[in-house]
Amino acid sequence: MSISTVIAITYLVSAALFILGLKRLSHPETAPGGNRMAAVGMLLAVAATLLDEKILSFTWIVIGVLVGGLIGTVMARTVKMTAMPEMVAVFNGFGGAASGLVAVAEFLRISGSGETMAADAGVSIMAGTIIGTVTFSGSLIAFGKLQGSVTGNPVQNAGLRLLAIALGLGVLGAAGYLIMAEIDPRVYWGLVGAALILGVLFVIAIGGGDMPVVVALLNSYSGLAASAAGFVLGNNALIISGALVGASGLILTSIMCRAMNRSLSNVLFSAFGSATAAGSSADDGDKVATPIEAEDTAMILAYANQVVFVPGYGLAVAQAQHKIRELADLLTARGVSVRYCVHPVAGRMPGHMNVLLAEANVPYDQLCEPDDVNPDMENIDVTVVVGANDVVNPLARDDASSPIAGMPIIECDRAKSCIVIKRSLSAGYAGIDNPLFYKSNNRMFFGDAADALGRIAEEVKEL
Ligand code: NDP
Repeated sequence: MSISTVIAITYLVSAALFILGLKRLSHPETAPGGNRMAAVGMLLAVAATLLDEKILSFTWIVIGVLVGGLIGTVMARTVKMTAMPEMVAVFNGFGGAASGLVAVAEFLRISGSGETMAADAGVSIMAGTIIGTVTFSGSLIAFGKLQGSVTGNPVQNAGLRLLAIALGLGVLGAAGYLIMAEIDPRVYWGLVGAALILGVLFVIAIGGGDMPVVVALLNSYSGLAASAAGFVLGNNALIISGALVGASGLILTSIMCRAMNRSLSNVLFSAFGSATAAGSSADDGDKVATPIEAEDTAMILAYANQVVFVPGYGLAVAQAQHKIRELADLLTARGVSVRYCVHPVAGRMPGHMNVLLAEANVPYDQLCEPDDVNPDMENIDVTVVVGANDVVNPLARDDASSPIAGMPIIECDRAKSCIVIKRSLSAGYAGIDNPLFYKSNNRMFFGDAADALGRIAEEVKEL
């Protein structure tokens, strides 16, 4: 059997492992196995690629592995858990940049050698360049928005829209010219520059509140860019794995859109999700939030039948995932029925809460979604909101003028009682006040989530 047949078969096996691995990722119980399966697939694909005779220099591969490995290790070890979403955004950008660079290198090789560019190679190179570049600059803006260094407001006006349309047409025109007429490096660099600006205009026009969708969409783009790079290199494994990332990113985008009750076109073009709404509230009258302490909270929880924990971004900030599990275990041991209700956009990245709860080995059968608890909310004795805010804000349901109007929420205000654990009455990501805090069935437990949960657990042990 020739080496190229071995490589082709190995790529086929790794593609099958990717698909089966992805399938298993759709359920928490099978996900770790799915992850391992996909990792084996990737190992096989890398090994097969290294066997490829087309590889010219192992020196550069070793240098790339060492430099990339070093940067990755340092970033993974130093990043704060709360900065993970920014890191995911940057990694999407790096993925796009890597794929774009493959296309750039191939273009430079062809233009330098004086060869003509076949139409199919030209389309792959242009697609790789454009998608990779837009993903790179767009991801850097998403990173800035998540980090707060770029405004969370949508930056959009008629002039910028016109500029985006002009650049888009220019990029397509330049790509067509390069493929069909002449390989002119100056036109190519103009295309790269215009695509970079397009990426910036694309993401800067979207409000900070819509970043969950943008992060998912950029993830999908980075897959498409990788797939285009696969066509440039004639590498089937890269084409297939890129297409899988692109497709799963699109599915995730649609899940995030549904979680925010928005259509994708509405997210991309309507300048919603402004973080400027700070201070907006349903009622600015005399609002009194009633505080509660650890001892009373412990009593209420320990003697309840049904308790639902609602984790949010503050759980990640406080790294309170182990403490919430400890308290839940104590309650379960006392016969209380405990569930964790996870909102799809809770936290700062898709799946943020699921990752934290999995880290604390929370039993999967205790996890549920808003649709599982909302219909039965009146029968739930206590909902404990831990560092969540926007995802339990009744304004989304009750106030059509609210910046988060229409976003499905976990309706804790309809439970028999609710306890919100956070440090103050200040707003969450959307920057708006939360009427839940002032409801008569709600109590505020002020403090850091980890510390508060720890103190409540101590009190439960005393009962
Ligand atoms: P929010 O951002 O609405 O609220 C988090 C709350 O956590 C804050 O009000 C804060 O209040 C509290 N908090 C912060 N630190 C601590 C701490 N140490 N202990 C206890 N509480 C703390 O979070 P949600 O999860 O409810 O909602 C997520 C929001 O983020 C949504 O608006 C979503 O659209 C957006 N988003 C989501 C992304 C995703 O992919 N999931 C991506 C980007 C944005 P205080 O300061 O008073 O403690």
